[in-house]
Amino acid sequence: RWPRLEPRHGRSRLMVLAGPTAVGKGTVAARIAAEHPEIHLSVSATTRPPRPGENDGEHYFFVDDAEFDRMVDQGELLEHATVHNAYRYGTPRAPIDTALAEGRTVLLEIDLQGARQVRAAEPTATLVFLLPPSWDELVHRLVGRGTEGEEERARRLRTAKRELAAQGEFDFRVVNDDVARAAEEVVSLAR
Ligand code: 5GP
Repeated sequence: RWPRLEPRHGRSRLMVLAGPTAVGKGTVAARIAAEHPEIHLSVSATTRPPRPGENDGEHYFFVDDAEFDRMVDQGELLEHATVHNAYRYGTPRAPIDTALAEGRTVLLEIDLQGARQVRAAEPTATLVFLLPPSWDELVHRLVGRGTEGEEERARRLRTAKRELAAQGEFDFRVVNDDVARAAEEVVSLAR
């Protein structure tokens, strides 16, 4: 179903960046988008309400449950999942098809469930797992971010433990010790 466009290392230009909560996936993905405008960063649909400073169509497509259902029913999403047992997130398929057909590298910043669905749909997709320098550092980052209450934080750490255990399913592992360095390492894997 995906256009075959000069796969590198036997892997396609469809790249997934996943990793445990608070590892800095969003920061690394944003850095890649800023430094490499030739790479298409997928914008997900979500039922989560926008946070201050988030714009519709830029950070996410913010939709209600009925609209999300419609996108699922119409087959408009490459993958979709409920994340942290709360809101639904999914990757719109059409912009990815277009970017791949243009010969561009496509980057999806999604959770582990989504990464597995992409792997199933497109076995040659390049799956990159972003790792924290250590478990303590991950906990430190989650607490330091201060965006979650204690209960939500505990839930996310349980999810993170599960997610770390799945790193063997990925093609590459990148340690997020430094955002700029990690971003360039991810980009180098697309070449
Ligand atoms: P946040 O609500 O903090 O922006 O994102 C929460 C989680 O949802 C992150 O782990 C992020 O990777 C994941 N996520 C964002 N977009 C998608 C998507 O389209 N599909 C899936 N499966 N997960 C997503």
